[in-house]
Amino acid sequence: MSEVYLKKVFKTIEKFKLIEKGDKVFVALSGGKDSASALFALKEYQKAKSIDFELKAFHINLGSITSDKIQEVVKKQASLTDTQLFTFNLKEKGISLEKIAKKSGRPICSVCGVIKRYLINKVPRDLGATKVATGHHADDFTVFFFKNLLGLNFSWIGKFKPKVESKNEKLLTKIRPLFFVGAKENEDFCKSLNIPFLSESVCPYFSDKGKIYDKTKKWYDVIHKLDEEFPDFKEKLINSIEKISNYFYEEDNLMSCKLCGEPTNKEICTFCRLTKENLP
Ligand code: AMP
Ligand code: ZN
Repeated sequence: MSEVYLKKVFKTIEKFKLIEKGDKVFVALSGGKDSASALFALKEYQKAKSIDFELKAFHINLGSITSDKIQEVVKKQASLTDTQLFTFNLKEKGISLEKIAKKSGRPICSVCGVIKRYLINKVPRDLGATKVATGHHADDFTVFFFKNLLGLNFSWIGKFKPKVESKNEKLLTKIRPLFFVGAKENEDFCKSLNIPFLSESVCPYFSDKGKIYDKTKKWYDVIHKLDEEFPDFKEKLINSIEKISNYFYEEDNLMSCKLCGEPTNKEICTFCRLTKENLP
């Protein structure tokens, strides 16, 4: 099973030139099956091919009651692949998701999303990364595609590709080696190799996240039904999303945040707005 899976992932890596000689790729590990699959598949790729590149891992400890348990699993994933792991601990930096959510009135999942997106670029970049790899997979992009199509967020669809090339020196190029494989394939891959991982429900805010999760799950179910009705529906859909994304691509109009200097489309980035005290 894992041979077929790896063949598919290797093909994505090669066709879209995700890895180039001299790269320093950091895998963003969440403790779940998807990012673990990305790390293990990239490690296998490194072993199988003679391309000279470095592979590292990093994890953001979100400072919740389950975060230390999650970090332990991430540590195991890194050590099983013999990969150096860097951790960034929100609590140690004085950042509390719960406090920010309370103060800003935003749902905790939205706060968590902003903080993660910012750090998933900044942390590896400060450590010398040339690219950051995430566990985003075909089912994610298929559901995002429909949501953004219906929400008229066309420019987002422009980034639904295996490699989002950086056009800004402070933004890392993002790679998604699992673009053409689905959640179930990642889970089967992890199980076949005995890779430890935690389910999403380990997040203590899962009941808040539940509403988003339920809707996403409904989308998955509908897409799955269509796949049963029409041969290769899912495969054809993700292939076409990758191609269609070029038509939706828009150049980001980015400036530097006045407080932290990170790329943003506002004067002060959302991360600073949420984490710095006494902002207007
Ligand atoms: P999510 O938005 O939670 O579905 O996560 C999407 C991707 O972001 C995952 O596949 C990981 O690569 C990365 N990620 C999520 N949570 C973390 C975390 N706490 N630390 C580092 N990377 C993460
Ligand atoms: Zn900022």
